[in-house]
Amino acid sequence: MSETDPRAPITRPIPPPPVSVETRPFWDAAAEGRFLIKRCADCGKAHWYPRAICPHCFSANTVWEESPGEGVIYAYSVLRRSPTGPFAVGYVTLDEGPAVLTNFVDVAPGDLAIGLRVKVRFQPTEGGPPAPVFAPHT
Ligand SMILES: [Zn+2]
Repeated sequence: MSETDPRAPITRPIPPPPVSVETRPFWDAAAEGRFLIKRCADCGKAHWYPRAICPHCFSANTVWEESPGEGVIYAYSVLRRSPTGPFAVGYVTLDEGPAVLTNFVDVAPGDLAIGLRVKVRFQPTEGGPPAPVFAPHT
């Protein structure tokens, strides 16, 4: 496949994500193929990325919640000049509400579209836990 072929599906090595005490439960679940988000028990809103303090109301009463990891593309950008070939990054609005900054995989850059339904999957990284990426989903 040519690097300039707009029909070629995106494959891209993902660097290992940073893991902190605050995000450890997320990465432990990711290693089992489960996608977790956090929800505030006080205001009821979900958020991403996972934080101990609710970004909406600053409550410390946040709990982990398993998500199907489904949503729609809110915005994306295709970066064509890369040593590993074109890749795409952007925001997914999860069905629960939060926006996730992510990489898109297994999709031709020309098939990306605002509003396209996508679902999370986990891509292995070198020396770290698998990273959440998104691919088209019907
Ligand atoms: Zn809250």
